[in-house]
Amino acid sequence: MRKILAIFVAKLALWASRLLGYGGTDFPGRLARKIYPAILSDLAANIDEEIFIVTGTNGKTTTTNMIAAMIKEEGYTYVHNAAGANMMGGITTSFIEATNLMGTRHFDYALLEADEANVPLLIKEISPRVVLITNFFADQLDRFGELDHTINLIKDAVRGQDIELVLNADDPLVSHFQNETGLHCWYYGFDQTDYDSPSSTHNREGQFCVFCGHKLRYERYHYAQLGKYYCPECGNSNPRANFIAKNLRMSPAIQFEVNDMEIYSPYQGFYNAYNILAAVSLAKLVGMRDEAVQKAIAKYEPRAGRMEIFNIDSKKTILVLVKNATGFNQTLQMLSQDPASKNLFIALNDNAADGRDISWIWDVDFAFLADKHSRPQHYICSGQRSGDMALRIKYDGLPVDHIHISASLKDGILETLSLPGETAYILSSYTALFACRNILLKLQKQYGSPLTAEQQDQSMLTSS
Ligand SMILES: [Zn+2]
Repeated sequence: MRKILAIFVAKLALWASRLLGYGGTDFPGRLARKIYPAILSDLAANIDEEIFIVTGTNGKTTTTNMIAAMIKEEGYTYVHNAAGANMMGGITTSFIEATNLMGTRHFDYALLEADEANVPLLIKEISPRVVLITNFFADQLDRFGELDHTINLIKDAVRGQDIELVLNADDPLVSHFQNETGLHCWYYGFDQTDYDSPSSTHNREGQFCVFCGHKLRYERYHYAQLGKYYCPECGNSNPRANFIAKNLRMSPAIQFEVNDMEIYSPYQGFYNAYNILAAVSLAKLVGMRDEAVQKAIAKYEPRAGRMEIFNIDSKKTILVLVKNATGFNQTLQMLSQDPASKNLFIALNDNAADGRDISWIWDVDFAFLADKHSRPQHYICSGQRSGDMALRIKYDGLPVDHIHISASLKDGILETLSLPGETAYILSSYTALFACRNILLKLQKQYGSPLTAEQQDQSMLTSS
């Protein structure tokens, strides 16, 4: 009875919050958990096949969405916390939204993106078959404490459970989970690529061996601490990958082969290549067909803010969410590979959800753009901390008269779009993202038609 009451009240709360225009998906789930604490484990028992959890610092939303697209392509039913509501409340809400009033509806799969700090709580209430870990970077440490602490929490939570792990073999902070948990692990990783570098200025977290503390040596870096590493002291090195990606091309669409399967995606950037590889690995592990996997990835469209393309007065405008130094550096790498002439708008806020401490912008490397032929012409800094952003860019030696400050998002975006250049990149921290997106949607409505999916593919292919 309490279960039905919990579902009813939460569905009502969800309906009301949508009606009132609140995006909040956490609250209905939290309400239901107060009324009936076992609600999540009860509803998770209606999953007939498997439950998958995806966690890690960057890429979990994209990876989870791609796996969802594959499950859909195979024609299965599933529960998925699509809105990025990855705390216990949000995950509970997604189960309640999917089920009927009696809470008896069955699904084939559940696919859950989980915030790192919530993995231990989640595993107490549900029994996943697979936990996939994408990577670990310093991200909003003021909220979760030290990265080490988070990693240990997850290790403790999975140890002794009947779980298989899917791990990034190229990240030394992820790849050692087998030794520490004794669980069966599957690994994915990239072979040598044309984009590798013998050094990395962005490796802060993974410099030292997790076993002996000795400085790791790298044969090559893919980005940040991801690459081919070994410890000269204790022999710790990349585990052999079960899913090896070869012949990576990003020009700018992503193409590679994994265990003889050809992958094509309209996405850009090495970090997205990793997200795709992670999703493919899990899909192959649980027996999805190659055709379904390939098709789902090829037609997968970027979601709001995780690289969304607008067409405003014939100018290609690309909106990207940046929330930490690693993601920001990856975005700069990506846009420097785009041969189009361009301008760069950056909105930086310091609200709680962005992380109050913005010192991470000093780990963003603008200096490498200096000698790049296709670097942005102008840098327009906006948001609550526009001045800090401008100072940061200036410090890396880019021409001062090309760095502008416009605290108002709208004025800044309009200025960016009015400058000569084929493409405008709009980068935004979390709490400015939806405002930026709304401004771009309005401008697109006023000055241009949205690109169709085919045109998006086309424009990305021909711009190389
Ligand atoms: Zn070592």
